[in-house]
Amino acid sequence: MPDFKLPADFSQRMKDTLGEAEFQDFYEALQLEPAVSVRLNPFKLSNLPLSARHVAWAEQGFFLEDRPSFTLDPLFHAGAYYVQESSSMFIDHILRSQRVPNDGLFLDLSAAPGGKSTLLSSYLGEEGFLVANEVIKSRASILKENIIKWGIGNTLVTHNDPEHFKDLEGIFDLVLIDAPCSGEGMFRKDPASMREWSQDNIALCALRQQRIMDHAAGLVKGGGYLVYSTCTYNEQENEEIVKFITEEFSYQPVRIPLETQWGIEEVRIESSEETFYGYRFFPHKVPGEGFFVTVFKRPDHAYIGSIRRMKDFKHPHLKQVSSTYAQQLRSLISLPEQSVFYALQDSYFFLRKQHQLYFEYLSKYLSIKYFGIELGKINKNQWIPSHEWAVSILPKEGFPLKELDLSSARDFLRKEESTLGEIPEGWIVMQYQGLSLGLLKNLGNRTNNYYPKEWRIKNL
Ligand code: SAM
Repeated sequence: MPDFKLPADFSQRMKDTLGEAEFQDFYEALQLEPAVSVRLNPFKLSNLPLSARHVAWAEQGFFLEDRPSFTLDPLFHAGAYYVQESSSMFIDHILRSQRVPNDGLFLDLSAAPGGKSTLLSSYLGEEGFLVANEVIKSRASILKENIIKWGIGNTLVTHNDPEHFKDLEGIFDLVLIDAPCSGEGMFRKDPASMREWSQDNIALCALRQQRIMDHAAGLVKGGGYLVYSTCTYNEQENEEIVKFITEEFSYQPVRIPLETQWGIEEVRIESSEETFYGYRFFPHKVPGEGFFVTVFKRPDHAYIGSIRRMKDFKHPHLKQVSSTYAQQLRSLISLPEQSVFYALQDSYFFLRKQHQLYFEYLSKYLSIKYFGIELGKINKNQWIPSHEWAVSILPKEGFPLKELDLSSARDFLRKEESTLGEIPEGWIVMQYQGLSLGLLKNLGNRTNNYYPKEWRIKNL
């Protein structure tokens, strides 16, 4: 149990906001272990055992009774679920309650490690396209890994500063800014955020949030949505940013339907002409962490940027694969009819045809870390399927599958030998409970484990 010594100025402010009695409830909630919840990947896992309690505002969200070792669960590595605290899953309710079309172009501007991006990717499915962006390089790599494991293939992972999006005004159907913030809502999960807390840091965060919103708010097209969230309670980083947005840009308020028993607090924010709405999550009222979110709609008559089709795809590193060569790829692996392919040196990437226009246009402006699904490479006339393909939702027809028990699945993920019994020669897709973990190649006299070295689970 964490021993909480809240910063004095923070405690005082919370007492002033909540009142003495409610502050006690808040303080006591901070002493409790945080609830553990996961969000399922609808393309990989449709349900948990019936005993798992559902998160009321997220279709695929579930609470677990206790915290298992996720590292030792092969389903975690197969991208069957994402461990996410429940308040953040409210984004799912926003999308569904507003019936946001799922065939558009979404942007998650501050995306790492990928909690909200994987949620958006699930919502968009095979129809819409997501840009998941992260400005910090090391975090962009973690984001890429999580998007690969999620495996839907509808995402472009980019590594850009928000200002690099300046030529992409008015093209996104939805922009989510889950802003870097002072993290007051994370105190019990991440005590470091408590130690770093200061009034000066709040002021710095608020300035940074304004700068980010200055770049982000113009990217939404007429009729589209802007979603702004933080994991902090103070008004400078929440209500004040809402006011900043409404003063600088033309946006309409969006009110999200709530059920009283959810315990989410609706906040009314008065701007000069209209009332806007924010939603605040307190740990003594909801089974999740502290969170704030607000939604805006761009008026239908606002600017809509055009995404122009280019005659020929030109990129310094990527080449589009010719139709003859595409046929050859299709003879090697089973691929959906409506797809396009790109080559990066000797590696081939898959993209659904309906995402081609978005991707080719965006690739002119953004620094690409990953996109679609990496399929594999040809080496000395031999097809080397990739791990990215193995864990993706693409069909595995033509490749033998090997179902592993728990212990052999863990051995495989540790890159350790285990007894596999009779297996055919060549490439084999290793699975656990019907979900792909990665690839093994049986050479007859020995086997090679192709699970990525940097992702392997260390001995516990
Ligand atoms: N959306 C993520 C999720 O649900 O997993 C969490 C995002 S976290 C709250 C905020 C992110 O903003 C961090 O990944 C951080 O690296 C990034 N960030 C930091 N400075 C930024 C800036 N100036 N502009 C945009 N993003 C920034």
